[in-house]
Amino acid sequence: MQNLADFAKQAAERVEAVEGEDAEARAALGLLAEHGLLAHTVPARWGGAKRAGVDEAQVSVRSLCEVRQQLAFASGMLDLMFVEQGLGSYAISLGGKGDWVQPLLAAVMAGEEISAFALTEEGAGSDLNAVSTEGKPDGGDWVLNGSKTFITNAGIADFYTVLVRTGGEIGERGGLSMFHVPADSAGLTVKRFEVMAPHPIGEVHFDQVRVPGEYLLGELGQGLDLALAVLGRHRTSVAAAALGFSRRALHESLTHLDQRMQFGRPLSAFQGLRFDLAEMDIRLRAGELLVGEAAELLDQGLDAASEVARAKWFATESASWICDRAVQHLGGLGVKRGQIVERLFREVRALRIYEGTSEVQKLILAKHLITQHRDGAKNHG
Ligand SMILES: Cc1cc2nc3c(=O)[nH]c(=O)nc-3n(C[C@H](O)[C@H](O)[C@H](O)COP(=O)(O)OP(=O)(O)OC[C@H]3O[C@@H](n4cnc5c(N)ncnc54)[C@H](O)[C@@H]3O)c2cc1C
Repeated sequence: MQNLADFAKQAAERVEAVEGEDAEARAALGLLAEHGLLAHTVPARWGGAKRAGVDEAQVSVRSLCEVRQQLAFASGMLDLMFVEQGLGSYAISLGGKGDWVQPLLAAVMAGEEISAFALTEEGAGSDLNAVSTEGKPDGGDWVLNGSKTFITNAGIADFYTVLVRTGGEIGERGGLSMFHVPADSAGLTVKRFEVMAPHPIGEVHFDQVRVPGEYLLGELGQGLDLALAVLGRHRTSVAAAALGFSRRALHESLTHLDQRMQFGRPLSAFQGLRFDLAEMDIRLRAGELLVGEAAELLDQGLDAASEVARAKWFATESASWICDRAVQHLGGLGVKRGQIVERLFREVRALRIYEGTSEVQKLILAKHLITQHRDGAKNHG
C-alpha cells in the first residue's frame, strides 16, 4: 500500500490547491480515475478489479477498506469521491438490466459519470420503510414524484440511484423499488445545503420525472433488499475511513507533542499525554482488527451483520474520541482553521450518522445477540 499512500499524499495536495467544493470533488475524482482506483468500486463481472476468492458479482470489501484507510489519512474529499462512485452505482452492478448498464459502469470507473445514492427523505431516515417518494407505471415508463434529502453529490451527480415507493403503505415493510435516474431528467431539481465538513450534499426533488421501464433495478418491490445489500457491502468501509482519519490524528499528535516545548521539556515527556497516545493507538488497533474481521467474512461470502455493526460502531465512535484528543494535544492550534486536526475533528463526525447511525448498529448487534442467546437456550433446554 506504499504506492497508494504516496498517491494519496500527492493527490491530496493537488485537491487542496483547487478552489471551491465542487471543483475539489471533480479534481479528486479525476485523480482517482487516473490512478485506476475507481475499478475497486465495480465488481469484476462488469470490468472492475478482481480479487482472488471474491465472488465476481461483488466488490471486495477488503479492497474498499484498504483504499479508504489510505485516502482518508490524506484527504476526506478523496475518500468521499472514491466511495460514492461505488455506493451510487452498486445497485446497478447488482440489479441493472439492459444495454445501458455496461457503458455506464465503465464511465463510473473512468470518473466520467458521477454517481449518487438516494434513500433518505425528510420523513424517512433510519426507518426506510417510511419512504414516500412515489413511482407510478405509465405505459412502459415510471413517473416519479417526491423528495430526497442529505444526498451526497447532489448537484454534481450525473445520475441518482433512488429508492421509491411502488406499492404498499408508508411505514410498512415492502413495496419499495430502486430506479436509475439520470440527473438531466426533466422535472429533477436539486437544492444544495452545507454540512460541517466539505461534502457536496443537498436535496433532490422529483416532479413528474419519467424514466424508462428498463431503469428499474432488481425486482419490483425488492428495492429495500437491494439498498440493504449496497449498504451491507459498503458499511464496513465507513469504519475503514474512520481508521484512516484516526491514524492521521495520531500522527499529528505524535508530531506535535514531540516538537512542542513547555515547562522546559517536549510535551511528549509528560505521562498524562503519553497515556493518551497509548489509548489512541489501542483504539485504532482494535478498530483495525474489527474491520479486518468483518471485511474478511464478507469477502468470503458469509453473513457478517454483527461483525459489521461492531466494526462500524467502534471505529467511528473511536475516531471522534481520537480526533478530539488530537485537537486537545495541539492546544489553541487544534481549533485554528486550516490545521489538519481541526479538519479531522469535523470530518469524522458524520461517520457516526450515515450508512446506519451508531444507535442502529447497536440495535443490529443486540438483535443478533438476543436471537443467538434464545437459540442457544432452546438447544440446551
Ligand atoms: C454527511 C451526510 C451524508 C449523507 N449522505 C447520504 C446519501 O448520500 N444518501 C442517503 O440516502 N442518505 C444520506 N445521508 C443520510 C443518513 O443516512 C441519515 O442521516 C441517517 O440514516 C439517519 O437518518 P436521520 O438523519 O433521519 O436521523 P433519524 O433516523 O431521525 O435519527 C435521529 C436520531 O435518533 C436515533 N434513532 C433513530 N431510530 C432509533 C431507534 N429505533 N432506537 C434508538 N435510536 C434511534 C438515531 O440513531 C439518531 O441518533 C447522509 C447524512 C449525512 C450526515
